[in-house]
Amino acid sequence: MQAYRHILVATDFSDHASAVAQRALELSKYYQAGLSLLHVVENLPIVDTTYGPVMPFEIDLTDQMVEAARTRIAKLGELVGVPEDHRLVEVGSPRMEIVRVAEEIGIDLIVVGSHGRHGIKLLLGSTASSVIHHATCDVLAVRLVG
Ligand code: AMP
Repeated sequence: MQAYRHILVATDFSDHASAVAQRALELSKYYQAGLSLLHVVENLPIVDTTYGPVMPFEIDLTDQMVEAARTRIAKLGELVGVPEDHRLVEVGSPRMEIVRVAEEIGIDLIVVGSHGRHGIKLLLGSTASSVIHHATCDVLAVRLVG
């Protein structure tokens, strides 16, 4: 059986985020694998109906969001015992960044929630679905209900 060596949890800080991280923690203990946390700050265009999309965010707004994300990932990291240098914050498209970072740092298992902030309207959330399709390693979608 293949043992995982480095597990990446993608977290969106939704209500279920700590349950997803706890599941990854259990797996990391079982496999004696490293554990990293990743949050991606979405750099979405601000849409104004008068002027159309205004691209991209003012840079200092993105900086503030990154700072807020660092604070939240620190809390989650402490909760599940992930060392500071394994708490990652990136800016961009979550689905692309999760796959890119996983490849860059040699992840062999990505753990995502089956759903996130976008609710449970779909069978599988759009981020989770895209990561499963594009990742070059195994992906675990932790089933979240409600
Ligand atoms: P979604 O497909 O957007 O409903 O989210 C499903 C899962 O994708 C979440 O439970 C997280 O594990 C992951 N995810 C969604 N958005 C982000 C984000 N901005 N940064 C990191 N992971 C995310």
